[in-house]
Parts: sequence; structure tokens; C-alpha cells
Amino acid sequence: MGYFFISETFMKGILFILFVCSSLFAQDNFNKNFNDKTLRFDFYHVGNSESEQIVFDELIEEPIWGGPKINLIDTLNLGAYKVALLNGENEIIYSKGFSTLFKEWQATREAKELTRAYSGAIIFPYPKRNVTLKLYSRNKENNFEEIYSLNIDPTNYFIRKGNDEKYETDKIKYSGNPSEKYDIAFIPEGYTADEMDKFISDCNLLTNYLFEYAPFDQLESEFNFWAIKAPSQESICDIPADSIWGNTLLNSSYYTFDSERYLMTEDYQKVCDVASNAPYDQIYILANSKKYGGGAIFNFYSLTVTNDPKFKEIFIHELGHGLAGLADEYGYDNSFENFYPKGVEPWEKNITTLNNFSSKWENDIDSSIPVPTPDEQKYEDIIGVFEGGGYVAKGVYRPTHNSIMRTLEAKEFNKPSKQAIREVILFYSK
Ligand SMILES: [Zn+2]
Repeated sequence: MGYFFISETFMKGILFILFVCSSLFAQDNFNKNFNDKTLRFDFYHVGNSESEQIVFDELIEEPIWGGPKINLIDTLNLGAYKVALLNGENEIIYSKGFSTLFKEWQATREAKELTRAYSGAIIFPYPKRNVTLKLYSRNKENNFEEIYSLNIDPTNYFIRKGNDEKYETDKIKYSGNPSEKYDIAFIPEGYTADEMDKFISDCNLLTNYLFEYAPFDQLESEFNFWAIKAPSQESICDIPADSIWGNTLLNSSYYTFDSERYLMTEDYQKVCDVASNAPYDQIYILANSKKYGGGAIFNFYSLTVTNDPKFKEIFIHELGHGLAGLADEYGYDNSFENFYPKGVEPWEKNITTLNNFSSKWENDIDSSIPVPTPDEQKYEDIIGVFEGGGYVAKGVYRPTHNSIMRTLEAKEFNKPSKQAIREVILFYSK
């Protein structure tokens, strides 16, 4: 017993030393390759349903790096795109997956008839030496394909020194060093200078609500929340179909892709300008609007209105998209065509086309449950394979009869979604 005790303590000590050493070594890797600030690549996605071109805009130096310093290479394999930085020896020194509004637009009917440009931006830690930035997009088989390459000399004097838009930033919740926490930056949309107290109170209310909600309730100490106090001239967001055009900070609009409740901003560079006032892994825009609406895109931004009676549920649902890249589990919106093509397994963790189900929640299903699982009352509370999700009624399957990613009445994420959220938070807070 005594021997066992000593041996266990000894082993714990060794493990602790190994852990500390590997953390320091990993942090050393950051210091070897990067300065503790941000470089931002601004560009335009130009294209239509069939093609995409990346057009250079500019490089901007920003003062704060809020992302990880240890987990610099993304192993999550989420998102429609991936950015990678390669050093002189062609080794990857940084990578991150994300999605964009342009990628969603490519699946709309409009993209079959029109070529458009969408504003884009990517942030990464500021490299110490020359690097090559490579951008990958998923092809029709959902594999990453290189679409763009840019050589960056970090000493180039054309790199603009941001930030022209300085705003006071409040700590809503602070758990520790941003490089070791998952940082969410709240941006106000449609809050006038006189309404900043309401913005801060909405930030507090939503942050408190989040930590009542699984799996966030178990991960509270991994989060920092910041509120950037950037005022708008007016409170109202654009409603094109009603001829309402407000003068707001980010120029957000309902009827994105002609879908009434899809409230988004197309000016992503402006979003990043404002966000650069805080360290962040995730951007959350709160819109001071009464009309029901919101939207979110993985590692891009999330947006919810704050005056609708259901805004707390919308807040959680959109964060599922923005933070973990979860798919919608409903199947009736017909504004997206072939968003999840037949014969291809989606990268989203909470839906499947059954092409590669073992990469999803197959192991969570009891052997007595039929696959696909009938939408019957006896299967209401179990993990199965229910048909309908990802905006279509057929061919895409979801893990449970209902969940917060399907309807706002559902009170929780299902198990595969909780798992996906946990993985992302633990990855970016290391
Ligand atoms: Zn959704």
C-alpha cells in the first residue's frame, strides 16, 4: 500500500513535470515563430456557384493576439475553409478551419445567375520571418483543395498599422490569460451611445445564461467574455423588404439570401476592425432589434437580436454554429440547394448522409435502435439516426428527434453536439 502510494505520487510528479515541459516547449514554438500580436489578411471572395477567386486587399497589423499559443495547428478538421502558414522549410506553423458567408451564398439560386464579391479577412499570429499563406477550400468531395497562396514578408512597410477604430472594452467575465482561455468578443449592433448600459446588461444576461446550459456549465473556467463598446447612429437594422434602412455600426440586414429572419452583415472586414479591440477566438454580434432574427457561421461570427422573447435560445443556437460548426437539424428551408450533396459526408459533427457514419455518432447508438430511426414517440429521447436535417427533408440525418439545433423549444444540445462543442473549447483554451 505504502509502496503503491509513493509510486503513484512519484508518477503524478513525473507526469506534471512532463506536462509543464511540453507546455513550455509548445509556447517556445510560438515565440520562435511569432510575435505576440496579430496579422490580418483582408481579401475578397469573388465568384458564383461554380467558381471562386481570392483577390488580395491588404495586410494589417493589429496589437492583440487572443488565439492559442500552444495548439497552433488545427486538428479539428471543421469548416469549409482552412488557412495555413508555412515557414521557409515548407512546414506548417499555424492553421485554422473556418467558414464564410460567401460559401453559403454559393449554394443559393442567386449564385447560379450572378457573380458577386464578399468581404473576407483572416487573422493569425504575427510571423517573425517570411511565410507563405495558403488557403484551402473544400471541393465537391469535401476534401481541402488549395485555392490561394500568398508570400508574406512581415517587415514589408505596406502592412498597415491598425487600428483606426478604437473603442473602450469591458471585461464581462475574466478567467485568465486569453491565450489559455476561449475568448468571446461581444460587438453591439444598433446600440446608440445612450444605449451602452443596455448592451452591457445584455452581455451579462447572456453570459450568465450560457453557463446554465450544458456543456458550457462544466466549462465556465475556460471562458473570457469581452464587450466592445462601439455605438451605432441608429437602433434599427435594415429590413429591405419593408424599405427600412438603418444607420448601424455593421450595416446588418434581415433578408440575407432573401430569407426574412436571416440577419447578417456582409461587411466582415468592418466586423474585424471592431473586434480587434479585444482578444478573441469568437465574435458574437448582439443586435438591438425587436424583429426575430439571427445567424452564425463557424469561426466567422454569430449574431442574435436581443429584444425578441426567445433571444436567449437564439443566442445558444447560433453559438452552436459559430463555435462548433454545428449544422441546422431542421429540414424545411428551401433557400439552399444541394447544401449537403448526396454521396458526400458533411464535415459538420451533428448531421450525416450515412456515407461515412463511423466518423460521426455511430458508436453512441444502442444496438437495439433501428437505423434510420422512425420519428416515433418511443424514440423521442434516445440517440438514433433521424431523417431530415441540413435544410432538407430527405437524405440528411440528425442524432435526435429534437435538439436546440432543430427547434428553439428544445432545451438542450444532443450528445454529439455537446461533444463537438467541448472539443473546440478545450482545443482553443490550450
Ligand atoms: Zn441555425
